[in-house]
Amino acid sequence: MRHVAVIGSGPAGYYTAEACQKAFGEAVRVDIIDRLPVPYGLIRTGVAPDHQSIKAVSKRYEATALSDNVRFVGNVTVGQDVSIAELLGLYDAVVLATGAPHDRPLGIPGDDLPGVVGSAAFVGWYNGHPDFAALAPALDGPGAVIVGAGNVALDVARILAKTEDEFAGSDIVGHALAALKPHGIRDITILARRGPHEIAMTPKELGELGHLRRATPLVDPADLPPADADAALEPGLRKSVSHLRAFAGNTPAAPLSIHFDFFAMPVAIEGDGKVERVIVERTRLDESGRATGTGETYAVPAGLVVSCIGYRTPPIEGVPYDAKQGRFANAEGRIAPGLYAVGWARRGPTGTIGTNRPDGFLIADQIAADTPADSAKQGRAGLDALLAARGTDIVTFRDWQGIERAEIANARTGAPREKFTSLDAMLAARE
Ligand code: NAP
Repeated sequence: MRHVAVIGSGPAGYYTAEACQKAFGEAVRVDIIDRLPVPYGLIRTGVAPDHQSIKAVSKRYEATALSDNVRFVGNVTVGQDVSIAELLGLYDAVVLATGAPHDRPLGIPGDDLPGVVGSAAFVGWYNGHPDFAALAPALDGPGAVIVGAGNVALDVARILAKTEDEFAGSDIVGHALAALKPHGIRDITILARRGPHEIAMTPKELGELGHLRRATPLVDPADLPPADADAALEPGLRKSVSHLRAFAGNTPAAPLSIHFDFFAMPVAIEGDGKVERVIVERTRLDESGRATGTGETYAVPAGLVVSCIGYRTPPIEGVPYDAKQGRFANAEGRIAPGLYAVGWARRGPTGTIGTNRPDGFLIADQIAADTPADSAKQGRAGLDALLAARGTDIVTFRDWQGIERAEIANARTGAPREKFTSLDAMLAARE
């Protein structure tokens, strides 16, 4: 028997558990530990609420969670309720699947003004993450600036642009829907520091902007490279750029515009006690394809700035950390004897949900090679004894199913659920 502790119950965590089941069959026990009383990490609080088909992958994780050799241990914070050193003493393998929940800082003057938020906070707010339920973003408008040319920037633009009716069938939380309903934003500007050929936006997500009821996406035709240059792009990017070319044919239409501002790098955020404008420097691409400032600047009025420029994994005391990359220092997932990283905590915040699956299998292979098949470790019995002695209130998967039933029962008409947004409410909803 091998004992494995996975820290984090998002996609990387569940794919690791699934891979361990496949690799070791009945001869493994996996504990998936999460600081929240609810599972699924980014599936619950990162994937956009109007992308229910992507969220449906949690059904697959549920099948893993319900098998006898895998269990969910919620409401347990590693580093607080139990240390990494203690877990290494109890389990043959400890796998950090903690994701990358912290925003990369913009690092420009004024980025701490009220009205400037990172995408982790903003996305967490509309998705009901307890850490961000009280965010109250500035939605008075009329301008909003989104920094970054990735899929998170598109998520944020779409959520700001949708009408209440367009949220039908989504699980956007009630507090966000109520705040977004009457908002005064009329101009959303997406600042991309490079050009249309350098975006990190995928075609499906970009195409969605073209079907919004009250918002028109706009691209300045002068920013587009000659059409024949698209032939050299890989097919996905070529399709994305074809959406941008279509948007370049749009004309501004009330009530809401989404401007793509290419070759545009924010250099300062200004305002009297709160954000009022973003100072943007025009860029061009240097020989290595990087954005370099031209010295030409202009101001974009904005009451809200959402920076969507990527994420970082928070360090854990005692675990080797690569500060430049913002993730755990690791070689193919191995951090130290018995300690591993998967998913965004291993390779940084890139790829789709499915990219985490091979990661899980890689780590299961490493665990098979590194650990004895017949362990002398205590595993879950040891963890239970330790947490019981500390009075930690563990949330089980059955508890979560009770919480989920209550969320489904609380749903507004047409919505799949109304998420609890505080730890107390989650814990109280256990049956
Ligand atoms: P991302 O894809 O890495 O995009 C980050 C963007 O921020 C890039 O355009 C980058 O520009 C820009 N950027 C970085 N630093 C900047 C700075 N200092 N100033 C201005 N711009 C800056 O990150 P993401 O959008 O957070 O997405 C993370 C991952 O989740 C991606 O793999 C994404 O595809 C995935 N995701 C998928 C979906 C979906 O499939 N529906 C939804 C959301 C997220 P440069 O290219 O110039 O560095």
